[in-house]
Amino acid sequence: MSADTAPDWTWHEAQGLSRIVNVSGTMTGLGASVTRPEVAEATAAAMARFARIHEMQLAASGTIARLTGAEAGFLTASASAGITLAIAGCMTGLSPARVEALPRDPGLRNAVAVQLGHLCDYGAPLSQSIELAGARVRPLGQSTQATDYQLEAACDEGCAAALYVVSHHVVHYGQIPFERFVAIAHERGVPVIVDAASEYDLTSFIARGADIAIYSGHKFLGGPTSGIVAGRKDLVRAGYMQNAGIGRGMKIGKESIAGAMAAMELWMTRDHAAVRAEEEAALEMWQTALEPLAGITPHRIPDPTGNPLSRLQVNVDAGLAGCTAAGFAAALGRRDPSIVVRAHEVELGYFQLDPCNLRPGQAALVRDALVEVLSEGAAIETSPEDLASARQGGIEGYLAWNA
Ligand SMILES: *Cc1c(COP(=O)(O)O)cnc(C)c1O
Repeated sequence: MSADTAPDWTWHEAQGLSRIVNVSGTMTGLGASVTRPEVAEATAAAMARFARIHEMQLAASGTIARLTGAEAGFLTASASAGITLAIAGCMTGLSPARVEALPRDPGLRNAVAVQLGHLCDYGAPLSQSIELAGARVRPLGQSTQATDYQLEAACDEGCAAALYVVSHHVVHYGQIPFERFVAIAHERGVPVIVDAASEYDLTSFIARGADIAIYSGHKFLGGPTSGIVAGRKDLVRAGYMQNAGIGRGMKIGKESIAGAMAAMELWMTRDHAAVRAEEEAALEMWQTALEPLAGITPHRIPDPTGNPLSRLQVNVDAGLAGCTAAGFAAALGRRDPSIVVRAHEVELGYFQLDPCNLRPGQAALVRDALVEVLSEGAAIETSPEDLASARQGGIEGYLAWNA
């Protein structure tokens, strides 16, 4: 989401931070999203005075209900925390003693059924967000195939919840369709939790039977770092109660509750068509500029999970362009400002440009940098580390961080 004014780097320069132009998407390692002024103002207003957190969470529940169509909701530190707390709630219900017993004693109903092809890594393993609650992962099927009978068998009396993941990170074929997944779990009395952290679709999972749907507040919504848990009132209450237990280390403060509420309100009133048109204009500008370059083939691709946005995929023929896709991505990242491209699949010979986090004036800056770098491939010094550095994240960054 673009903010109203062009970025001012003064604060970043004073801290000695790199200047980032983000054409990769919403990435935790880049600070997730930039917020609109209304969100920052709500955050600042909340910071100036005390408030009862239960009252704030009750107000947030109302906003979440209007946003998602769910009965109720609460906010937590992140979507990842939301997964852990929702699963914990499915195991404990409203029993304070059971809340306090986690993760040591999850009770007898402690398995979480999840298709193996959905067990992704979004910066950390999804399986750990389940296990943090004390639950056991019960994977079903193989990575590229899961079937009804496997889910039926997994949803036995020891099953606390069935988790369904919607993401570009998961395997997109051979999985059980959402409606079937819900029907099978519900026939056996097992609640369905949907991890839709990065989805624009804030209503259909609930409308189609999910008991809980989880979203990031800081991805497309453009809020402060936060997680939204929406769903059935009894499960929302039980998930929220985990703040008296394992949720303590995942708490959200008054400032982020206020900011996330403002971001949800803005989402409900924003002119989505106008935002889309701006994004399309940037893609058009980049595609036109890159088409003439030797060895470079740009083409638009739709979002893999059906989010209403496209990206520009830049395929690189290293023989003709003089450099690999990873080498180009790394070279763009070394510039100032650093142009961070979407390089999840860079070893396949392409990177992508995501327009949804552009600030005013940055589309042209990105175009000029792309043309400069991609037309001088032979001059770029490549190294075996390009692959890791093009990806910007991963464990290499932690190993290199030497406080
Ligand atoms: C980003 C993401 C998460 C984690 O979201 P956070 O709010 O950053 O914790 C979980 N699941 C999926 C599918 C994601 O894309």
